[in-house]
Amino acid sequence: MTAPSAHDVVVIGGGVTGAGIARDLSLRGLSVLLLEKGDWGAGTSGSSSWMIHGGPRYLEFDWDTTRLSCVDAGHIVTIARNLVYRVVFLIPVMPHDRNNIERMETAMEVYDRFQPLKHAHPHRRLTGQEALQAEPGLSPDVIAAVTMEEWGVDPHRLVYANVQDAVAHGARALNHTRVTELVKDGGKVLGVRYRTADGATSEARARAVVNATGPWSPELGAMAGVDIRLRPAKGIHIVYPHRISNFSISAESVDGRDLLMVAHAGFTLLGTTDDDFYGDLDSVDVLEDEVDYLLQGFERVFPRIRDYRPVRTTTGVRPTLFKWRKYEDELSRRYEVIDHASQDADGFITIAGGKLSMYRLMAEETSDAVCRKLGHQVASTTASRPLPGNESDPEAPAELAARCGISALAAMKLQSRHGTNAEKVLDEGGTSRILCRCEPVTEAELVYAARREQVRTLADAFRRVGVAAGPCAGAACILRTAEVIGRELGWSASQRFDAAREFVRGAWLGRAPVLNQAGWAQEELAQGAMRGLMGFDGSR
Ligand SMILES: Cc1cc2nc3c(=O)[nH]c(=O)nc-3n(C[C@H](O)[C@H](O)[C@H](O)COP(=O)(O)OP(=O)(O)OC[C@H]3O[C@@H](n4cnc5c(N)ncnc54)[C@H](O)[C@@H]3O)c2cc1C
Repeated sequence: MTAPSAHDVVVIGGGVTGAGIARDLSLRGLSVLLLEKGDWGAGTSGSSSWMIHGGPRYLEFDWDTTRLSCVDAGHIVTIARNLVYRVVFLIPVMPHDRNNIERMETAMEVYDRFQPLKHAHPHRRLTGQEALQAEPGLSPDVIAAVTMEEWGVDPHRLVYANVQDAVAHGARALNHTRVTELVKDGGKVLGVRYRTADGATSEARARAVVNATGPWSPELGAMAGVDIRLRPAKGIHIVYPHRISNFSISAESVDGRDLLMVAHAGFTLLGTTDDDFYGDLDSVDVLEDEVDYLLQGFERVFPRIRDYRPVRTTTGVRPTLFKWRKYEDELSRRYEVIDHASQDADGFITIAGGKLSMYRLMAEETSDAVCRKLGHQVASTTASRPLPGNESDPEAPAELAARCGISALAAMKLQSRHGTNAEKVLDEGGTSRILCRCEPVTEAELVYAARREQVRTLADAFRRVGVAAGPCAGAACILRTAEVIGRELGWSASQRFDAAREFVRGAWLGRAPVLNQAGWAQEELAQGAMRGLMGFDGSR
């Protein structure tokens, strides 16, 4: 083991919260080491519904969370303009729904008071006929509807933008690096021991250690000898590789829960469940029952939902604060910053609970607690300081496209990930050839991701630039992606094959719960083609 490195703060966990804390503290001039055992945003953050929202549902029992979410959402959509887009919901009222149109509209009138905080528009009420005209896929039984506006975001890029800015301001950030132990001396936490991707172990000393590991925070707490109580709740989504509706749509599940079909920029997320989770956080499976539950709920509102072919599923575990008895859906999304000094773990601070939509505020309050501890009197600037690529207005995609020889769609997608740095990305990669046609992703962007964005696996590339995220799920581009990433990272030919094989296996696991009979036949065909191309005999 090498000699310990020294930092002001070690932040454990590279989800949106940890990345936000690393950025906040670095901008305040502290030296930060950020450690993530997987990839940036690959935990709960990446498997969220990709929404920056206020949560009108919480108005019924947790008014303050809605208000705080809306206030912070307002900041997030301003500092991350390239990463966000408006998501307009159509909330249909069906026969026998829990809420009639009057109740629904009253709720929206209350929510409208919060909408300006996040730069969103007020609701509109539609007759059944107007709703059907706007959204022909709705059931003809629809009685009336209201609209509601929220924001969509790419959480992987949001997390990475925070990491990138932290690094630009002096932080060290390591993905695929697991904290295995906390270094303690009596009642004081002095640092961490960690293992990097190549198996090397190291030690880092710090004046404060922050536990921002979301649902894993009790595990890290145990390393410090403190008890952190969460009530982890699993949620799943079905992913369609395209839009299947004009609007995002909500529906009521068989047990009266709100389900959402979120029409994101080029794909659709249908979710979500909310169930107490007691299993292994590192191995969370999607069950066919859960898929059926979602489809059953949506079929009543959007009758042809089963005709569409999903491309994968996602699942994550909410880091909800512990509360006895409450029904999962009614649990508060509040957060708590816990200083463990009084529990014999001075120097150790945990941030638990919360939501993606208020990650910046959570990061600010956690950073305030760290600064108080270290006697460092510098205020947070993250509410107004743009994330990388948002410092100025982007040019029109058509202009970038014409200058760089790519399609306007490719330019727009590139800007949505890199903002005003889009051209720099193309320049670095040297070629504007399109590698993934579904998205589309240029080869240059992949090269950039491998050189500058800590992409170490093909799954990292999927998260960073959306390669293989489209309808073909990588069938047409994963081998070429492995070539490009492998060339940059110095992989041998067999390492490139292994990487592609591993990606295909992982993608299959995410797809299996949504394969119907025809889907299995297609899958067999695709797997057969892949075996032929890769010499993949399935035995390893
Ligand atoms: C199905 C679902 C849908 C959701 N939808 C939304 C939504 O649309 N909008 C919204 O606002 N919120 C949503 N949420 C909630 C939101 O996603 C979470 O509150 C938020 O992403 C949590 O972020 P985090 O950084 O705290 O945790 P995580 O993203 O889980 O990050 C914690 C990280 O810690 C790492 N880690 C763990 N142990 C170690 C270790 N020993 N060493 C190093 N690293 C470690 C993990 O790998 C992980 O990446 C949703 C949640 C779920 C489950």
